[in-house]
Amino acid sequence: MADLIRPARRGLMLILSSPSGAGKSTLTRTLSQKETNLDLSVSVTTRPKRASEIDGVHYHFIDRPAFDTLREHDDLLESAEVHGNGYGTPRKPVEAALKAGRDVLFDIDYQGTQQILEKAREDVVAIFILPPSMAELRSRLVRRAEDAPEVIAKRLANARDEIARWSVYDYVIVNDDLGAAYESVRAILTAERQKRARAIGMAAFVDKLLGEQIA
Ligand code: 5GP
Repeated sequence: MADLIRPARRGLMLILSSPSGAGKSTLTRTLSQKETNLDLSVSVTTRPKRASEIDGVHYHFIDRPAFDTLREHDDLLESAEVHGNGYGTPRKPVEAALKAGRDVLFDIDYQGTQQILEKAREDVVAIFILPPSMAELRSRLVRRAEDAPEVIAKRLANARDEIARWSVYDYVIVNDDLGAAYESVRAILTAERQKRARAIGMAAFVDKLLGEQIA
């Protein structure tokens, strides 16, 4: 039986961003359900809870004073104002997961992505999901029917600004088919997990391989 010593690796931060309605929430949910060793980062937000959302699962819904306190105490890895509400990533769960060698998945916008990239470039894999067209984006937001018409109008206006930030990202996926988009994200994650720079103990593993006597 071969020696079971295998190289480990550092946990990576997988960021998925897109304008609202481009399919990212479904992708992040499916990924976090199907992938092992991938923790979903649950953000805090001051935005009102939607009917379909569960506190502590989709977000931690908090009020503005609580949000400001988290920021002041440096308890957020990144934070941003999106559509007039505060959003942020609690720092501790991310640090604990990475330390334990688990990967962390983030559903955050380009502002948060930029902040995390500045802090830990080599541990970040950032993916941007584009809608196939603006018309399709609008009809997805209307179909979702979870936001008031004026909120949808605001999200569409913001979508243009967000799409213009696409060059911040390592990978860009056009989501005209959710299944295909999911496979692309999985392929990126699989490849990024094998990156030589993330490996810990690979040199010792290779030395051991080279030292093996083959009959
Ligand atoms: P929604 O209100 O539709 O759930 O999210 C609105 C936008 O805020 C989305 O683009 C989402 O990715 C982004 N977002 C959610 N959580 C965070 C966060 O913790 N930080 C940042 N920077 N953006 C977030």
